[in-house]
Amino acid sequence: MTYKNFTVETDADGIALVTWDMPDKSMNVFTVGVMDEIEAIVDAVVADEAIKGVVFTSGKSSFSGGADLSMIRGMFSMVEEERTKDPANAVQKLFDGVGRMSWLWRKIETCGKPWVSAINGTCMGGAFELSLACHGRVASNAKSVKIGLPEVKVGIFPGAGGTQRVPRLANAQDALQMMTTGQTLAPQRAKAMNLIHQVVEPDQLIPTAKQMIKDGLKPVAPWDEKGFKAPGGGIWTPASAQLWPAAPAVLRRETSGNYPAALAILKCVYEGLQVPFDTGLRIEQRYFTEIVQTKEAFSMIRSLFISMQELNKGARRPAGQPKSEIKKVGVVGAGFMGASIAYVTAAAGIPVVLIDRDQEAADKGLAVSAKLVTDAVGKGKLTKEAGEKLVGLITATPDYSTLADADLVIEAVFEDRDVKKAVIEKVEAVLPEGAIFASNTSTLPITGLAKNSKRPADFIGIHFFSPVEKMMLTEVILGKETGDKALAVALDYVAAIKKTPIVVNDTRGFFVNRCVLRYMAESYDMLIEGVPPVMIENAAKFAGMPVGPLSLNDEVAIDLSYKILKATVADLGEKAVNPRHMELVARMVEKEERFGRKNGKGFYEYPAKPAKKFIWPDLKDLYPQKKADDVDVKVLQQRFLATIALEAARTVEEGIVIDPREADVGSILGFGFAPYTGGALSYIDGMGVKNFVALCEKLAGEYGPHFAPTPLLKDMAEKGDTFYGRFDPYGAVKAAA
Ligand code: NAD
Repeated sequence: MTYKNFTVETDADGIALVTWDMPDKSMNVFTVGVMDEIEAIVDAVVADEAIKGVVFTSGKSSFSGGADLSMIRGMFSMVEEERTKDPANAVQKLFDGVGRMSWLWRKIETCGKPWVSAINGTCMGGAFELSLACHGRVASNAKSVKIGLPEVKVGIFPGAGGTQRVPRLANAQDALQMMTTGQTLAPQRAKAMNLIHQVVEPDQLIPTAKQMIKDGLKPVAPWDEKGFKAPGGGIWTPASAQLWPAAPAVLRRETSGNYPAALAILKCVYEGLQVPFDTGLRIEQRYFTEIVQTKEAFSMIRSLFISMQELNKGARRPAGQPKSEIKKVGVVGAGFMGASIAYVTAAAGIPVVLIDRDQEAADKGLAVSAKLVTDAVGKGKLTKEAGEKLVGLITATPDYSTLADADLVIEAVFEDRDVKKAVIEKVEAVLPEGAIFASNTSTLPITGLAKNSKRPADFIGIHFFSPVEKMMLTEVILGKETGDKALAVALDYVAAIKKTPIVVNDTRGFFVNRCVLRYMAESYDMLIEGVPPVMIENAAKFAGMPVGPLSLNDEVAIDLSYKILKATVADLGEKAVNPRHMELVARMVEKEERFGRKNGKGFYEYPAKPAKKFIWPDLKDLYPQKKADDVDVKVLQQRFLATIALEAARTVEEGIVIDPREADVGSILGFGFAPYTGGALSYIDGMGVKNFVALCEKLAGEYGPHFAPTPLLKDMAEKGDTFYGRFDPYGAVKAAA
């Protein structure tokens, strides 16, 4: 029999090598067609007496990334469709639908012939669950091999047996840790956890897998053997009595109760370990049915899986622009940002010239790249050879003539209009016709900077976030005259360095910083009201923000906040800034000399390591303090999320952001906006615009007019619109492009 996505070759020993290699994809993913073919293969293997066992592997460099977009979309449209029909049948149908993969893997496990999974590359989600259902698991020791069940990161959980098999192989604590955080494991760690049997050299993978079958691998899972006991003896043991009472508390500490899928993992494991395996699978299936119907699962999958992939694949790339070949990039300004931009560019295999005012300054930037390489090699993330090659791609020089054959130049010089003007002119004097100039400015509008350019159509903003090597987001900013080619080249470059782009129109602070400033401003208000600082920080974390606003302000630098406030007054007048905010920040910088983490003194104190930072004790003396009992933490949480969401809505209203996917993905990747909401606009859509408007009106009454809902929001509330409906990314954005 022939298959579209698989080849099956049976050798003289009767071992069928099933190789998964989807013809039209760069990575194997689960689709309905793939599932149908796996089912047919299982049936064929069982029916063919000549086949003694199966080795299942991939024909691609990775094993599989898990489920495909179309499968995920199908799951949600099923939720939608079934909900509108008779509710009793709807849930049953959903239950049956989401269980297909789980019971197919169970069919492999109980088919009566041994299966070995030969994991040759990254093996995630459903693919690792399939491997767990095989009787043997061998992984290659190649650096590229990563194993994991990352579903919780997009609001769901391993629902194809993962929550039942992992704690029956590994100890429950490791199992919970792995699944509730979605952590990825290197093969050696997976072996140490007892999740795979062997780790071998890549060329030994298939022979070892076949040998397991030849050595008489039993086609029975441990839990199907009589007398099976989970590691540690299951739930009712002294060791478990240590683990289980604390587990929900630990989870709550880590997630603040915001992630229903993480809690469902706990329930699946706890309940599943007390019942026979098949009952455990049904428990998992039941919780999975519940979780896919949650707002959190819907919003997280939409933003963090679907939209992110779409943006990465160039959803906002202008039509008709040929794919640009970026053969050389210039980075001008080899300071904090420029050095790291050179590093990520070279890491993508693109030669870079790194320019600064003199050779010494340029070399300093190169040394930063070299240090990043040394660290990556030390951590085993890069081989020594790859590291040397990377550094070799960067040429440090003060000589602008080296830009004569560059395709793209990114400037990251001082944040000063005159310095930038001089650099633009110097670069354009040598830059070839048709090459693109990008500015990494964080505060200066691109349209204004482009006035210094002779080729404003080829002038664009590419705004990186620090630390550049870690932050996944870049904001691409269109000046008034920026042309399609510049946008295409910028997006091709961002794709090459494997970051996620959002495209925004020009405005002071662009998208991300506008929202971040609101977050910090709300914490200033709270400080001024006398809310105890610790409550401010904790409330933000309970709301799902990864970093408290005071801590974030310390990282950004309080003197920079002061500079931004002053620049805003200079450009827009006194009224553009809250005078009490100015007073607070001025006092921190001028009187207290507290600049943030950089001088070890900010809203926090930074004692020498290993001691941890703590809130500056005198902070509470700046304003009369409220009693903790008089502060409603829930309201603090609402204020943080609402003020950011409102700003995101304003950027849509002003036409700065035109695609809701970008506001959502940008808010999560840019500053960690409560990921369980799916992002700043999904937060509004999730509660309903009408409810959001009511919340804003209430907050405006108590905490100031900055919470007043905007005309767009009021109109949407009246019409019952959502952001994804009114600004439909699949219709409106395409039409505008
Ligand atoms: P930095 O002071 O660390 O680096 C600036 C570099 O530019 C220095 O090495 C300096 O020698 C060089 N330089 C100055 N004038 C020059 C000239 N005429 N020719 C060549 N080189 C020149 O500053 P930074 O933090 O890297 O910021 C650079 C740019 O990136 C600014 O526009 C800033 O707004 C933006 N930015 C900064 C951050 C951040 O977190 N620091 C984030 C996003 C964007």
